[in-house]
Amino acid sequence: MPVTVPLSLRRGAGRYRTAATRAVAVTAVVGASLTALAAADPHEAHTLTGNSVANAATETDIPVAFTPREAQMPQVVPQQVLDFLNGLRAEQNRPKTVRPSDGPLSSGFGMRWGAMHAGIDFAGMFGSPIRSVTDGTVIEAGPASGFGLWVRVLQDDGTIGVYGHMQDILVQVGQQLKAGDVLATVGNRGYSTGPHLHYEVHAGEGAAIDPLPWLAGRGMNLGPAAD
Ligand SMILES: [Zn+2]
Repeated sequence: MPVTVPLSLRRGAGRYRTAATRAVAVTAVVGASLTALAAADPHEAHTLTGNSVANAATETDIPVAFTPREAQMPQVVPQQVLDFLNGLRAEQNRPKTVRPSDGPLSSGFGMRWGAMHAGIDFAGMFGSPIRSVTDGTVIEAGPASGFGLWVRVLQDDGTIGVYGHMQDILVQVGQQLKAGDVLATVGNRGYSTGPHLHYEVHAGEGAAIDPLPWLAGRGMNLGPAAD
């Protein structure tokens, strides 16, 4: 993801430096005054007051204009920067692979009933949400033979995810998705014997691959299918 720091943050850097310089100057005065007090009477405890600090500052030759280079760094992180960093952290921490349906895995990839089953099935409650497995872009959304309705998503790794049999499609072609975004609801359209989600993964424009090891490679282990 490209990261840009807003101009307003860059402009603000000058102000922090000024504030930091002042803070350092005060710190230097306090430090010097403590040294002066300690030297004046090492056996007596002293309470540091505003006056003693001021006196110390005037009585000693303190190079207050000098600011060490390291101390010129911003001492207080501004809210805009915190918000920016929190945004980065949230982006890093959000899941990049999401189970597409809460329903149980009901059918695996491979030969089934004498025909190739090119995806995996999740038995689902009619109308329950179907979520995008990865970040991606919707490249097709509408009627498709056998699927009833389908949504095809160009996924974050260049594969294509195919979602089938949905009741309602909730996205449009060209729409950007984040993993977990709801793109449709579970239905029973097309060649389907009950409400379920059929999900396929194609390696680019190529043939369907088994989604289970592909998902496992992304850290999501769904275990064996029921059949
Ligand atoms: Zn299926």
